[in-house]
Amino acid sequence: MQAWVIGNWKQNPATNNDVNKLLDSLLAVNDTASTSTAQCQLMVAPSCVHLATVSARLQGTSMLCAAQNISAHSDSTGAYTGDCSAQQVADAGATWTILGHSERRQYHRESNDTLISKLCHALTQNLGAVLCVGETQEQYDAQQTFAVLDEQLAVVKDLLTQPVLEGDSSLSLAERLIIAYEPVWAIGTGKVPTVAEVTATHAYIKQTLASFDTSLPEFAVLYGGSVNADNADSFAGSPMINGALVGGAALKSESFMAIAAAFNHAKA
Ligand code: PEP
Repeated sequence: MQAWVIGNWKQNPATNNDVNKLLDSLLAVNDTASTSTAQCQLMVAPSCVHLATVSARLQGTSMLCAAQNISAHSDSTGAYTGDCSAQQVADAGATWTILGHSERRQYHRESNDTLISKLCHALTQNLGAVLCVGETQEQYDAQQTFAVLDEQLAVVKDLLTQPVLEGDSSLSLAERLIIAYEPVWAIGTGKVPTVAEVTATHAYIKQTLASFDTSLPEFAVLYGGSVNADNADSFAGSPMINGALVGGAALKSESFMAIAAAFNHAKA
């Protein structure tokens, strides 16, 4: 299975000028390292306001551009102040969107109902979706990780019954939906679960998705949470870890491309 390394830029960089500088160095390293091969697909997710700039500059390169979120209310237009729809982000050049990041679940109270709407809107507008799941520190300490995942992955089970998937082959869903397992306690903290723990959790996620429909092909499951240039090798070495969703280390071209190189090398 192809690996994915996705950079979530969150509410960074501050200016369009800084976005261009980050792209300059990313594209320069990408050219020389040519780490983005068939083994490892690279993607970056800038803020909504920088989507058009970034996607225009990535045209003709092997890197993809994703939104960090889309509106739950409508896939196109409407009276929804402050929202950006799936159609608008696609028009700005994004081909994917991140959904259900823990920061959105925490600060915007995103529920499973909200996420089902967003997933349907993404697929309606031909955007792929990277659905983030993961437990908090408290839930991890209470050994509730699998129960939390059951609850969060139920959106995929519901998605399978939605009209947007009628007439769709399950193969094409697996090409347009990626799961990112991101333990909330590992995001931006420098704390990481062991590779064995992530491997077991990814096996559980894959098994849970397969239980929804036995005809579904295997979905890519990425790990996210304090991945950096030093620990990427160890995660990349597990066959259950199909890539990484990267926050802080995605804001420096050297660390982002080193993570890409680790996955590219391990999956070759
Ligand atoms: C994230 O926010 O998705 C993330 C994984 O952040 P970091 O790599 O900084 O932990």
